[in-house]
Amino acid sequence: MRTLINQNFLNRRAVVRVDFNVPIDDQFQVTDSTRISAAKETIDYILNQGGSCVLISHLGRPKGKDPKLSLSHIVSKVEEILQVPVNFFDDCVGAAAEQAASSIVSGNVILMENLRFYKEETAGDLDFAEGLSKLGDCYVNDAFGTAHRAHASTTIMAQFFKEEKFFGRLLEKEVNAIEKVMKSGEKPVLAILGGSKVSSKITIIENLLDKIDHLIIGGGMVYTFVKAKGGGVGRSICEDDYCDYALELLEKAKAKGVQVHLPVDVIIAEDFSNDANQKICKVDEIPNDWEGLDAGPQTLKNFEDIVMQSKTILWNGPLGVFEFENFSSGTVTLGEYIGKSTVAGAFSLVGGGDSVAAVKQFGLEDKMSYISTGGGAMMESLEGKTLPGITALME
Ligand code: AMP
Repeated sequence: MRTLINQNFLNRRAVVRVDFNVPIDDQFQVTDSTRISAAKETIDYILNQGGSCVLISHLGRPKGKDPKLSLSHIVSKVEEILQVPVNFFDDCVGAAAEQAASSIVSGNVILMENLRFYKEETAGDLDFAEGLSKLGDCYVNDAFGTAHRAHASTTIMAQFFKEEKFFGRLLEKEVNAIEKVMKSGEKPVLAILGGSKVSSKITIIENLLDKIDHLIIGGGMVYTFVKAKGGGVGRSICEDDYCDYALELLEKAKAKGVQVHLPVDVIIAEDFSNDANQKICKVDEIPNDWEGLDAGPQTLKNFEDIVMQSKTILWNGPLGVFEFENFSSGTVTLGEYIGKSTVAGAFSLVGGGDSVAAVKQFGLEDKMSYISTGGGAMMESLEGKTLPGITALME
């Protein structure tokens, strides 16, 4: 892995592919700047060594040039976070863009316009990628969130730099965190998979079975397993088509020596709403017109023991409908257990969409060893796929 460490950026101009695809409100204000902050370490590193940064990113999914999705809206936020002035140029390729990029001097930062104003970006167009490569004399990819896409700026442009292409600090940390779980995790290794559906997690589960000692299954996925085993799940979310697969999976886990832990009790609701009547019930005895929306107290106690015993913990997917406050306690409590285990020495990685949202919503960020910034890229990594953006940097 060619990382930034030990590289000399003095008087060098790095084209840095960042992921500044941040949410923006109607007033063009950035509502969550996590992704900008996440790129700061890389940019600081290059600037502190006397280099300069040409930042390239996408924002949203524009169809052609769309002023609403101009990266100019985020310049002041980027300046606030980086604590340096940031120039902006209203294009990202071509002679004028190259001219603007080459005019910056050591210690300067320029942000180029939204890459996706060109359809060539997502098409992975070779000429477009070559154009981008002319913006600097070396290439740093720090956009983990798009590393699973073979786009011009995330993958294709790497081929125009022989040795002069590097993992940014964020990308490096993301890759290391995943490797720590998937390859070199201290045992016992625990994966906690929650969320709504078994079908969306099949490849992940299959891939993880060779790498883990314990598997906790939570959230809506549970009911497909419970029904497959003959239990009553009422109106709980359940994928009937996947019941056979669920049983097969339990067999596979057993054959591989992985201990699978399912909830024993759940909190059920009379309808799918925060204010619904609720009660605790055995996981396989849910009355016909009720549905399971959160983990029960005995389940959480059982899960606590496993989490506390584990030395490596991967968490993907909530234990219940955490968006409803009255059904969020399973997810919050699990997050707290993982935090406790982390303090006691375990390595914990939280990755993939909703569990990251839950961790942030409940203020558990500081308790985890690493929280991934990439939804799709993290999911594909857990599925065992090699991400094209990462392969391109290794070549
Ligand atoms: P996923 O995107 O597959 O990780 O699923 C995340 C979603 O699963 C969240 O929006 C949760 O509200 C939802 N979820 C978790 N537990 C349940 C449940 N018991 N019933 C329905 N949805 C659930």
